[in-house]
Formats: sequence, structure tokens, C-alpha cells
Amino acid sequence: MLYINGEWRQANSGETLDVINPATGDVLEQVASAGKEETKEAIEVANEAFSLWKNKTGAERGKYLMDIAQKMKSKTDSLAKTITLEMGKPLAEAKREVMSSIAYIEWYAEEAKRMYGETIPPSDPNKHLMLLREPIGVAAAITPWNFPMSMIARKIAPAIAAGCTIIIKPAPDTPLSAIRMFECFHEAGLPKGVANLLIGSAEEIGPELTGSSKVRKLTFTGSTAVGKMLIRDTANTVKNLSMELGGHAPFIVFEDADLDAAAEGAMATNFINNGQTCICTNRIYVKESIAEEFGKKLAEKTATLKIGNGMDEGTQVGPLINENSFNKVQSHVEDALKHNGKILCGGKPYERDDLKGYFFEPTVIASANDDMLIATEETFGPVAPIFTFKNEEEAIHKANDTPYGLAAYCFTKDLGRGLRMMNALEYGIVGINDAAPVTVQGPFGGYKESGIGREGGKSGILQYVEEKYVSIGMK
Ligand code: ADP
Repeated sequence: MLYINGEWRQANSGETLDVINPATGDVLEQVASAGKEETKEAIEVANEAFSLWKNKTGAERGKYLMDIAQKMKSKTDSLAKTITLEMGKPLAEAKREVMSSIAYIEWYAEEAKRMYGETIPPSDPNKHLMLLREPIGVAAAITPWNFPMSMIARKIAPAIAAGCTIIIKPAPDTPLSAIRMFECFHEAGLPKGVANLLIGSAEEIGPELTGSSKVRKLTFTGSTAVGKMLIRDTANTVKNLSMELGGHAPFIVFEDADLDAAAEGAMATNFINNGQTCICTNRIYVKESIAEEFGKKLAEKTATLKIGNGMDEGTQVGPLINENSFNKVQSHVEDALKHNGKILCGGKPYERDDLKGYFFEPTVIASANDDMLIATEETFGPVAPIFTFKNEEEAIHKANDTPYGLAAYCFTKDLGRGLRMMNALEYGIVGINDAAPVTVQGPFGGYKESGIGREGGKSGILQYVEEKYVSIGMK
């Protein structure tokens, strides 16, 4: 179903798309698939709604968000189930995603009241200078399948808190999480046109959104390749952009680190969401002298991970989202073997009679080197390659030697070294002795080709406001 101007409806063409359970291959539901016409309509109604929505007080807007958060809380279990069914992640992870989505909505419900302006000291005593913060206008949000609920929450909450209206286009693989979320918006009585949902082909919907001069903001989470295309497509209408793009995270382990904590952390960042996270570790760099010991610890822990259908109790690793993802993982592992990589655990597809999806064993590869595809390309799957380094300088050089700059991790017990690494790593998110740095109050976003702008924290809402400078003569 599409949600436009406060109403649920089918596509004008009657077209639908199938939503597939990646653990079983079954069709879960058929949902309406929108095209150009519905997109134009959504832009019109979002634009009309903007003039009313922006004039509500921050407290009023925040109250709607609080009500939405309450609705979502009361449905936590069923929302989590929806995520697992259409995306594949284990139910426990899906539940954490629902709670994180609620946390973003609550955070921005509170921030809505705090859109402070500034007064600026003038150089002319007869002038009064001010900076006002105003909502940008209609925002379009294009979101991915790997976190089908929280990626929407991170965009919609600050946008509508700031006074923008919004059109969401979720990934076609995972539209059900978006629909269930929008049901909560509807039940909370969010005024019509403030949030609109378009499900359908990116080729139809994308150009309408990027080409419209009424859409003043585009916020995107997805691959760097599509992000670059969207940056080009929005050039003609000079939109304000937030881009959360790909990453290639290094995870550096020094000889003075707590090796068990580092191995535990590496396992978590590599295999959470089956490696399908833009801040998942892509390259583990371990000091030569401890590489063997570290590899053994990581492989032992990894081998205990329970693979299966995310709906089954105790599952820790679910299926990959689709065949393309599976093929990429397999080709990266084959390529690593060709370049003298050594499999410490995993390394092949996981097969079981009751599972029909694209499952791959969590894999640890030692003797990784720069000739491997995995050294430069995002695998987006459960593969942990271990590279080695000789000294701190080399670790920094290798970690930064990439066009990406989203997340980096470093494990060391030496305070001075930790601080040096913090300064040297060219990344938007740095975890020192912390493999799980993401939290609602922390700004999330990348350097270099990993993106533009930040989500979360104080920065998140500022992505949806214009700064108006006012100078008032007092004579
Ligand atoms: P992923 O690799 O995570 O699927 P993509 O960048 O391909 O990342 O997709 C992320 C989102 O971008 C999805 O909602 C997808 O439908 C959308 N998308 C893909 N191609 C385009 C496009 N040409 N225009 C607009 N949106 C697109």
C-alpha cells in the first residue's frame, strides 16, 4: 500500500511487487508499486502540507512524534517480526532495531522544542543581528533494506521535528517495515501530507523526486554508486543533500590490546546483520606479532555463531538479502583464496534442508593482502579478512588508504596511542576500544566518499533547516 495525503491506496496502474522472505524464498505479501504519477501527487500534497506544518510549534510537532513512539512501543514485537520476515536478520537484532527507531523518534520529539536561533554581536552598534532556523521544505528520503525501519526513523524524525514534510521511498526488498511504521503515523493522527510513502521502482520514482524544484532536500542511505548518481541528478535544482553512503571500515588491533575484547568486538562488527551494515568491519589490521593468536581467538568465537532462519530462537546469523549479495560474498572469498588467503573458519555456502535462502557461513580469512578484492571493495557479507602491520605508522596509512571514511575501530590499552589514533583516522565515526559506537545522541556520518551530513544527535536536525540571517537597523 502507498500512503499519500493521509490515505492508504493502491497504485494508479494497479501494479504490485512481491515481497520475499529471504530465509525461505516465500512471497510474504504483494504491495502496490507506484510510478511517476503518484510521485508527482505526493510532492504536491507534501508541499501543501508544509505551509501548515512549519507553522505548528515545535512542541506540537514533538507531541505527534511522542505519540508515534508510543504506538511503535506497543507493537514492538510485531514490528520486529516484520523486519525479520522481509529482511532476514535474527529476531533479537530486529527488536533492537525497533527500539533504536523509537529512540530516534523520541530524541527528535524532544529536539523539536529546541530549534534555537542565535543573536550575533554586531560591529555596528546601531544594528541588531540574528540567525533564525527555518525548516527547508519538502524532503525526499530514499532508504535501504539493511535497516528497513531505523533508516526511516533517522530521517523522518528530525525532518518532521524541524517542520519539514517528507516523502519516503524505501528499498523495494523491504517495504513492509515502512508500511507498519506508517500505520503508527496514521494511528497517531499525523496531519495529512506530512509523511508520505511511495513504494516502487527507483527508476520511476527517483527522477521525479530529484528533478522537482518543490523537493528542497534529499536524504539518502545506500551505496556510494547510487549516491553519486543522486548528487548529479539533484544538481539542476541545487538541493540540500544528506548522503549516508558506503564504508570500508578498518579494525586495528595493537599488541597491547585486550585481545579477548578485541576479538569479541571484531566478531560483533563483522557479523552483526550478517555483515550487511555500512559500518561493519571490512579490514582487520593486527600487529604481526599477535596476528596468529588473534586469528585463532576470532575464528573460535566465530565458529560458534548459530546460522538459521531469523525467526528461530537462538539464531545469530540469518540469510543474505538476495542472490546478488550471495554471489558477491562468494566471489570475494574465492578471490581471497586465489590470492593466498587462508580460511580459519567458514568459507562456503551454508546448506540445510529447511533453509532455501542465501546463507553463507561466517568466514575468517588470515593472510589477507592488498591484491584481494576484499581489500578495497565493500563485501556486505559475513567475511572477516585479517591483514597484518608492522608499526603504528603503517596501520594508520593502511587504514586511511581508501576513498571511504565512515567508521574505524581501534583496540589498544595505551592511552597516548588511542588518542593518536583518534586524531589520525580519517573517519566520521571512530570507536576506541568500542566496537559498538552508534547511539542516538552521536552524529553518524562519513568523511570522503562515505557521505555528506550527519544523522543523530544535535547535528541530525540541523540537516533539515535553513539558516536565515537577519540584520535590523535600529536608527
Ligand atoms: P543497496 O546496495 O543497499 O541496495 P542501493 O544504493 O542500491 O543500495 O539502494 C538503496 C536505495 O536506493 C533503495 O531504496 C533503492 O531502491 C534506491 N535506488 C537505487 N537506485 C536508485 C536510483 N537510480 N534512483 C533513486 N533511488 C535509487
